[in-house]
Amino acid sequence: MSDRSPITSAGPANFAAHLAALMRAQGMSAEELAQKSGAGRAGTGIALRPTVSRCVSLDTADRLANAVGGDLPAMLGPYTCPGCRGNVPAGFTCNECGARGGES
Ligand SMILES: [Zn+2]
Repeated sequence: MSDRSPITSAGPANFAAHLAALMRAQGMSAEELAQKSGAGRAGTGIALRPTVSRCVSLDTADRLANAVGGDLPAMLGPYTCPGCRGNVPAGFTCNECGARGGES
């Protein structure tokens, strides 16, 4: 059994969005996060791209959150970019989340 379709429950997807944003904010690569958190490359990759059949354990999620200075409970909630709040003017790119204006 290996369902690679995108995750349907919100928690892991929210966590991935928060995690990616905190990594960007700190200029941390997935490799660095893998080492700092002890989650390993596989665990870090799964955390950043969760699928229906593959999610990180709560323990791993907690370690990843700590490694980027995040708060796990908050990271399971909906992600709203603090830079653009989901609203990027057309022609601009949000430095926080990388969203581009004029696309949606
Ligand atoms: Zn943004």
